[in-house]
Amino acid sequence: MRCILLGPPGAGKGTQAAIIRDKYTVAHISTGDILRANVKNNTALGMKAKSYMDAGELVPDSLIIEMMKERLSRDDCKRGFLLDGFPRTVSQAEALEILLKDLEVELDAVILLEVSDEVVVKRLSGRRMCKQCGAIYHIEFQPPSKNGICDKCGGELYQRDDDKEEVIRQRLAVYHEQTSPLVEYYSSKGLLRPVNAEQSSDSVLRLIEQLFGKD
Ligand code: AMP
Repeated sequence: MRCILLGPPGAGKGTQAAIIRDKYTVAHISTGDILRANVKNNTALGMKAKSYMDAGELVPDSLIIEMMKERLSRDDCKRGFLLDGFPRTVSQAEALEILLKDLEVELDAVILLEVSDEVVVKRLSGRRMCKQCGAIYHIEFQPPSKNGICDKCGGELYQRDDDKEEVIRQRLAVYHEQTSPLVEYYSSKGLLRPVNAEQSSDSVLRLIEQLFGKD
């Protein structure tokens, strides 16, 4: 399985990717997670990326493409991969095509997780993440059993700075302007598979599995 998960922030890309990774042993590559780890560790990339991320803007293509070139060439991608949060611009998509050609592999599908802006705002403003293992919760729809504590590892839950409402609106505007042209881009290549993602994560997973004949 070599797939892109496409959709606005809060569509459930990270949630679905984590479930599919565990069930089918494919690499889950989240550019947002890689960037956050770089920010946390104060790497050169993290220092360059931080101000863009805090403002809800995209990190420049050149930095992202370099980072993905290194990541996609690792051994764990040989069994397949799920790209979560990449590509986010047409030039990233064009660069990906060249990277995959060099690796002599092809994309199977681009799964488009469709949700409205109102649902995105509701989901993201209530989202909480574990500082330790990155597990995702929602204060209303998927609360942890103990307030503020991760069920999986006992780590502390936090709200991402970019999950505050004004930054969410900015990220949505960036999605509509810079990322949504990818819908047409992949549709014209016959790779786009739209999925209604305004449902429970179990139902969305079932729809994705149906696309791959795994149900
Ligand atoms: P995410 O966790 O995917 O919502 O990403 C969080 C933030 O990281 C985004 O708002 C961007 O600032 C940055 N980012 C993640 N992926 C990309 C990408 N492919 N291109 C540019 N910026 C990105």
